[in-house]
Amino acid sequence: MKILKQLFNNNQEWSERIKAEDPTFFEKLALQQAPEYLWIGCSDSRVPANQLTGLLPGDVFVHRNVANLVMHTDFNCLSVVQYAVEVLKVKHIIICGHYGCGGVKAAMGDAELGLIDNWLCSLKDLYHRYRKDLLGIEPEQAREDALCELNVVEQVANLCRTTIVQHAWQRGQELSIHGWVYGIKDGKLHDLDVCVSEKAETPDVYRILQQRILDK
Ligand SMILES: [Zn+2]
Repeated sequence: MKILKQLFNNNQEWSERIKAEDPTFFEKLALQQAPEYLWIGCSDSRVPANQLTGLLPGDVFVHRNVANLVMHTDFNCLSVVQYAVEVLKVKHIIICGHYGCGGVKAAMGDAELGLIDNWLCSLKDLYHRYRKDLLGIEPEQAREDALCELNVVEQVANLCRTTIVQHAWQRGQELSIHGWVYGIKDGKLHDLDVCVSEKAETPDVYRILQQRILDK
């Protein structure tokens, strides 16, 4: 039986280190969670929400899937969003893509990869919607980066259109949706300036989506 001893050793050291800084950290956290942020990011192992934002356990509610997609038929993602917005009352939802995303790369290609092709269907649609403009971008890496950004903007728009977010705004709940991209080459976050905090601002996301590709 393989018990991955190293990971348990790491965990022991980590918990001791946290307790050394704040002896009641875990006791307080066990009573409740009150994160201000919901992070929707890619499953990629190089993009860990807590570490790259310097946030501790309890600070950020997290949902990750391949290529950080928000789809209106995905009950997993929607359940996370609903719980975060209606129960935890997070103030910010961050959709964070990343450059060098394998999901984005796969959506641009013709290779058959299996079940993941179904998952990436909406991303392939996005690529084909902007294919003509994207093909004008050189080199290929810049083209991939552009689709990574477009994807984040598109997912911000998708999230804004969910009844969960729409109802929160109708109730007057404070809630902002942010679109970021993380650079795995430099460890830096980039804000795509697509923050939406009310229903009226949602059409701006589509304008920015268009603008972003035309500016490339
Ligand atoms: Zn990715």
